[in-house]
Amino acid sequence: MNDLDKVYDPRRFERTWYAHWLRLGLFTADPASGRPPYVMVIPPPNVTGRLHMGHALNNTLQDILARWRRMHGDDVLWLPGTDHAGIATQMVVDRVLQQEGTSREALGREAFVARVWRWKEEYGGAIIEQLKALGCSCDWTRERFTLEPALSEAVREAFVRLHEQGLIYRGEYIVNWCPRCRTAISDLEVLSQPVAGKLYTFLYPFEEGQGGIEVATTRPETMLGDTAVAVHPEDERYREMVGLRVKLPLADRLIPIVADPFVDRTFGTGAVKVTPAHDPNDFALAERQGLPILRVMDEQARMNDAVPSAYRGLDRFEARRRVVEDLQAGGFLREVKDHPHNVGHCQRCGTIAEPFLSKQWFVRIGPLAEAATRAVADGQVRFTPAHWVNSYNEWMGRIHDWCISRQLWWGHPIPAWHCAACGLVTVARQDPGTCPGCRAARTVADPDVLDTWFSSALWPFSTLGWPSVTPDLARYYPTTTLVTGFDILFFWVARMIMMGLRFMNEVPFHRVYITGLVRDAEGQKMSKTKGNVVDPLELVERYGADALRFTLAAMATPGSDLPLSEERMAGYRAFANKLWNAARFVLLNAGPNATGTAPPLPPAALRTLPDRWILSRLAGLRVEVDRALGEFRFDEMANALYRFLWHEYCDWYIEAAKPSLAPGAPEEDAARARAVLLHVLEEVLRLLHPVMPFLTEEIWQRLPHHGETIAAAPYPSPDGAEAARDPDAERRMDMLMEIVGRVRNLRAEVNVDPGRKVPLLVRPHDEEGRRLLTTQAALLTSLARLESLRVTDDLAAAGTAARAVAAGADLALPLTGILDVDAERRRLEREIERLTKERVGHASKLENADFLARAKPEVVEKVRGIDREIGERLDRLAATLRSLRGA
Ligand SMILES: [Zn+2]
Ligand SMILES: [Zn+2]
Repeated sequence: MNDLDKVYDPRRFERTWYAHWLRLGLFTADPASGRPPYVMVIPPPNVTGRLHMGHALNNTLQDILARWRRMHGDDVLWLPGTDHAGIATQMVVDRVLQQEGTSREALGREAFVARVWRWKEEYGGAIIEQLKALGCSCDWTRERFTLEPALSEAVREAFVRLHEQGLIYRGEYIVNWCPRCRTAISDLEVLSQPVAGKLYTFLYPFEEGQGGIEVATTRPETMLGDTAVAVHPEDERYREMVGLRVKLPLADRLIPIVADPFVDRTFGTGAVKVTPAHDPNDFALAERQGLPILRVMDEQARMNDAVPSAYRGLDRFEARRRVVEDLQAGGFLREVKDHPHNVGHCQRCGTIAEPFLSKQWFVRIGPLAEAATRAVADGQVRFTPAHWVNSYNEWMGRIHDWCISRQLWWGHPIPAWHCAACGLVTVARQDPGTCPGCRAARTVADPDVLDTWFSSALWPFSTLGWPSVTPDLARYYPTTTLVTGFDILFFWVARMIMMGLRFMNEVPFHRVYITGLVRDAEGQKMSKTKGNVVDPLELVERYGADALRFTLAAMATPGSDLPLSEERMAGYRAFANKLWNAARFVLLNAGPNATGTAPPLPPAALRTLPDRWILSRLAGLRVEVDRALGEFRFDEMANALYRFLWHEYCDWYIEAAKPSLAPGAPEEDAARARAVLLHVLEEVLRLLHPVMPFLTEEIWQRLPHHGETIAAAPYPSPDGAEAARDPDAERRMDMLMEIVGRVRNLRAEVNVDPGRKVPLLVRPHDEEGRRLLTTQAALLTSLARLESLRVTDDLAAAGTAARAVAAGADLALPLTGILDVDAERRRLEREIERLTKERVGHASKLENADFLARAKPEVVEKVRGIDREIGERLDRLAATLRSLRGA
């Protein structure tokens, strides 16, 4: 059956077409095809993830590029997959176990990891199905998971090579630690947030004699781990005290007063307590000064056995309270004052992070960052919008070594083995069995796993088979384009560039498009706490995937966030509906040629002005769309298609073609109109397909077409499009459309029913205008709903008339017999009087200096706008009134 359903209901066909594309193997890349490759790797969503608006945006844009290049004949590989997301996934399964009344610890490591795999098989990857509902044309035959065996091999290989190259080391280091997640977290995973806090000042008495030195701190409990007091070497207040020792209250230890140039003389008293194991700056100071390092907390941030028994086992905040109490009781507390300040919180669970001394694995980042900075400076990787280069460079400039070990169970094990006998740590591709140092028979695998971002950093080549040199790797690396959000520019994009250069000697991609943020209609960030999160799948359900995709594309202006409003979505749903109805009209009128082959376009000599015009506009659209996509201007692409389909094809061309299709019209006219209607519709569907894949397929399948799917049909090429343009037709049609527009305005101003036919007198300004009006009289008559059209040099013949000037001609719409001219005149006079009064109100405001000074600029601008509008309206009414008076 040829007909489209009466009502556009995307739910009735979206899933069907997706299944059709999969059956055709359309999304599968073919390294042997000989066609130019176009490659993208998906930013792998967490395996625990659900599709959110950020994913919807990012993947819609990737899909537009993939479908566009595929239709252009490229061998497109859009490689999908998911990330094992170490800490996020582990926490999800932790919660499941908790509900079952058990725990990770009770299960033991092996059973727990098996349990996570089971969870993953059952619930993981829901997001993959959601991407399909959105229409994403990923190559699902190449779907990857960061923790699958092949990718684990790549991770192990990369780790061992970096270690061999001296770029991975193990060290004691102060890391950010989450006592709740019980793992090190990277700087990027720590959120700095304000807390109320207090600043406490204590007295540490001198070893001998009277008095002491006052120190200030926001974290009193750490005083139990102090190993010195430090002052600035040039601080006159303390110069004499350097080298003395003080008694550390509560702990009863003696600690020295040292001088160090890094002490901030303006903070607190200018003398600071030094807690090397629990503060990164103090740690550095202790290393400079050769001070002992004393850990006083365990992994859950409880006080450990290194503190006096009264505090052992206390949580850090409880210990803080007790320490302050006891210092006060002992007479050591000098001052407590409010001190709001920022403290790092675990991005995952919100717990206050603890600086924590531990043995961790690190990537020596300097050489990698240097190469990655150079590659971007050389233009091997280009960012859109370009300003992201600045953030990238700035971050690269102050980067420090990357802590890659995590104290989790779910992740890539660190390929290192520890010998209990001689202490040797062996990094190897496989378990060495015996210790290569002392031949001891037993080594113990390192208990830590790698930061999730370590495997993500290898994604552009690990997914293609590295370290094996596979045909895929040879053909598809480096990839072409990466589309991602700015929030993972450093976590991910920068590190992929580093690792790509290190292991493949080539950047992983040449273009990076950084998307904006989808916000709510008011421009606010979507967040669960604000309750303004919009679920993309709900939008797909209500508006259809195509309308959602079109909305996101139309709003994707590089460098801007996207305030998503329901109105806008509804507007683009209406656009889909408009296209649907236009297609129904064309199909209903398409005649016997609707199936089978497309009727040929009429020869140039037989084309009407509207034919020539719409074909020329279509040629222009081909150029515009291709240029826009080449520059990541998804917004301009969408807007150009919208304008063409709605305002040119539907509003004008279909209207102009209607008389040719009317009953009784000559068959050759009808055939010509059908051929052009079908041709333009079919081509514009192909242009639109990358943005609205489902709707375009549903319609295209009913038009005369070649092939099994529009997704494999050729993309209309911009080549030769300039030559196909017809500027003469466009100019003449513009004039005609302007005249029709003026006539419509005139009818509205004198209140003539839009359905009623009226006579029109036209005085052309020149010979060209005269020629246009005489040759296109029938078209003008039909479009402007004229009863008669008279081209004349004498408009006075119109008598009492509504008059206007258009480009190329003066118009007069005689009113005698059309309406009661006297009544109309009175109505106009009343309307002018009313508007004049209204305007006075606005004008007085604008003349009021007080108002201008006090009102917000946008309010003033609004009043100005209204004033302008009323002014223009009055001018038009006055002109109409003049013409009614016969002036
Ligand atoms: Zn945490
Ligand atoms: Zn050994």
